[in-house]
Amino acid sequence: MQLSTAIRRFFLYDIVRGLTITLRHLVKKPVTLQYPDERWEMAERFRGFLGLTRDFQTGEENCIGCLNCEKACPVDCITISTAGKGREMYAREFYIDYMRCMYCGLCVESCPTTPKSIVHTNQYETTGYFRDDLVFEKERLYDIWEKESNFNGPRPWGKLFGLRNMENERRPVEPEPEAEAAAPAE
Ligand code: SF4
Ligand code: SF4
Repeated sequence: MQLSTAIRRFFLYDIVRGLTITLRHLVKKPVTLQYPDERWEMAERFRGFLGLTRDFQTGEENCIGCLNCEKACPVDCITISTAGKGREMYAREFYIDYMRCMYCGLCVESCPTTPKSIVHTNQYETTGYFRDDLVFEKERLYDIWEKESNFNGPRPWGKLFGLRNMENERRPVEPEPEAEAAAPAE
């Protein structure tokens, strides 16, 4: 046996070193989160679930049914059927198959409206019992955006595409505080 190995064994070097690492981790801040009560803060420009945007109060849709997003999608996971003509055209049906979506963002980039009618959100819980559960229809896509708007955290996509401004403009106006009673005459 080499002298160095004998010394290490005599002083229980490996055991002490292992315990030191364990103790160091005991006092470190945990990296786990109490999901779903706590959520990771996603990176800026994180591309999560796609949502469709509309006016919260009137329900007016931003989508004009131009089909650009459907054509831009490289995996054909968007299916739209339109109704109306010219300026009256709108997406009567709008489906996104999240079993196929690869969150590339090309549909968002190709959307011509201002603000964008289709946006990525910070939501990422893609689960379902059946394959059909992951084919989202129009109302669920609007729900995604509305849920996103209720998050307190940063919404970088909304900020980028002017949606936050739209949302702020359309929020109910806070009632003015009542005018103070006229000061008593001196
Ligand atoms: S993010 Fe990409 S893959 Fe998903 S719907 Fe949009 S274009 Fe298609
Ligand atoms: S979401 Fe945008 S690109 Fe897609 S159909 Fe509507 S307006 Fe056109």
